[in-house]
Amino acid sequence: MPFYVTTPIYYVNAAPHLGHAYTTIGADILARHQRQRGEDVFFLTGTDEHGEPVAQVAEREGISPKELADRNAQRFLDLLPQINVSNDFFIRTSDPRHKRRVQEVMQRVHDNGHVYKGLYEGWYCPKCADFKTEAEIAEGNTCPIHRIPLDREREENWFFRLSTFEQPLKDLYAERPDFVTPRSRYNEALAFINGGLQDISLSRSKISWGVEVPWDPGHVFYVWFDALLNYYTALSFARDGEDLTDRFWPANFHILGKDILKFHAVFWPAMLLAADIPLPRRELIHGYLLMRDAEGVETKMSKSLGNVLDPFAVMETFGTDALRYYCFREVGFGQDGGVSTATFGERYESELANEYGNLASRTLAMITRYRGGIVPDADVDATLAPDFEGLVGEVSELLDRAEITQALDRIWQRVRRLNRYVEESAPWQLARDEANAARLDVTLRSLAEGIRAVTVLLHPYMPETAAKLLAALGDEELGLDAAEFGARPGGSAVGELPPLFPKPQ
Ligand SMILES: [Zn+2]
Repeated sequence: MPFYVTTPIYYVNAAPHLGHAYTTIGADILARHQRQRGEDVFFLTGTDEHGEPVAQVAEREGISPKELADRNAQRFLDLLPQINVSNDFFIRTSDPRHKRRVQEVMQRVHDNGHVYKGLYEGWYCPKCADFKTEAEIAEGNTCPIHRIPLDREREENWFFRLSTFEQPLKDLYAERPDFVTPRSRYNEALAFINGGLQDISLSRSKISWGVEVPWDPGHVFYVWFDALLNYYTALSFARDGEDLTDRFWPANFHILGKDILKFHAVFWPAMLLAADIPLPRRELIHGYLLMRDAEGVETKMSKSLGNVLDPFAVMETFGTDALRYYCFREVGFGQDGGVSTATFGERYESELANEYGNLASRTLAMITRYRGGIVPDADVDATLAPDFEGLVGEVSELLDRAEITQALDRIWQRVRRLNRYVEESAPWQLARDEANAARLDVTLRSLAEGIRAVTVLLHPYMPETAAKLLAALGDEELGLDAAEFGARPGGSAVGELPPLFPKPQ
C-alpha cells in the first residue's frame, strides 16, 4: 500500500529550531513505521521560498531572492541528517518544475470559473505574508503572532471564490470526522467555516518574487497557494523521468503545527476541490513545545533563561535519539506541553539509561557470563508472553492515527515489564544451581526476546539505538513481524554493546 506523509515546507527566512525538528521527526516516525510494515512510503519535506519577506531581506543584503533562498535552504537541508530523518525528497518552491506545475493547477482553477479580479483592501502582516480578518487583528492593528503593526494594503488582485466552497467544506467535515485531528483542531477549523467564508486574495501585483499568474503575468500567486501546492507538485518531479502522482496522491498525512491550521484545513481542501484534485486523507495538527523556567512556569524561548532546551546542544551532548525520544515522550503529540532541560535530564537518566540501556546491558552481560554469549534456544516464558500479546497490533493501530506518544507509551510499558521480570526471575540466583539450568535458559531467552521485540518497535523513534542493540543481539531484522515476542529463533550469538546512553562528560 502507498503511504505518503508530509511536513509543512519551512519558510526559508527562519532559522531551524526545535519546532521544525519536532514536526519533521514526527513525520519520520510515521514513515519509518510504515516501511517496517512493508508499505510503499514517500516522505516529503522542504522549503517555502517565495513571498515578500524573502524579497525584502535579499534587497537589504544586495543579493537576488534566489541567492538568499539558496543560502537559507541549505540550513534546513543540513538539519535533516542531524535529526536523522529519512525523507525521500526535499522540495524547494523556487524549483522551476514546481512553478510549472503550480501554473497548470491554477490554470485549471481559473478555467473552472473559481477566480475573478477585484480590489482588495485590508490589514496585512508582512511577516505572516497574510491579510488578517477582523478576528485576527490584535490591539492597535498589530499582528497577534508577530506583535508588529499591520500595513493597510490596497491593490488589484485575483480572488479565489472561497465562499462557494463553504457548503462543500461543511459536507467534507460531516463526512470525514477524522479529516483533521485532534478533535479540538477539527472543531476549530469547522467553526471557522461555519463563521462564513469570504473570498480570498489569490495573487499580488506589488511583488515579483513568486510564481507568475499564467493568465495575467503582471501578478504572482499569493505565496500560500504556491506553498500549499508543494504537496501535490513534488510528486511530479521528485524522481527523474517518473511521475509519482498517481502512485502516492492523495497524501495519507499532512503533519503541521496549529499556527497554520486555517490554510491547511480550510483553504487547501477548497483549492483542491476547485482544481478537481482528490483531497488528502488526514491532517494531523500538533501543538507547541513550550519552554519552562526554573519555577516550572511556561515561557517563551529565550536563551537568557538558562533552562531552555536547545535541541542542538542536546543532540551534541546526548545524541539525536535522546532528543527524538524525549520530545514525543514528554508531550502528547497533538497537545501543547512544556519541555525543559530538567525533565529532559530526568527522562534521560531514569528511562533511557536505566530502564532501557541498563536492561539491555545487564541481559547481554548475563548471556555472556552464563551461556557463553549464545542466546539459549529455549521456549519463551509462558508467564511473560501474554504481556506482549497484541502489542504490535496496538502500536500499528495507534500510529495509523498518528498517536505517536500513546504508541511509545505502550512500548515503554513493556520495557518496564521486562525490568520487573528481571527482578522476579532473578537469573543471577538461578545461575548458582545447575538444577535450574532449564529455567535460566527460558529466562535469558525471554529477556533477549523481549528486548528485541521492543527494540524493533522503537526503531522509528530511536533508529541509531535500535540498530546498535539489534546488532548486539545478533538479529537485525527490522520488519514489523519481527516485533512479535517469540517470533525469532533463539541461538544467536550476542556481540559487544557500546554504552547506549552514557553519562555526559
Ligand atoms: Zn504576523
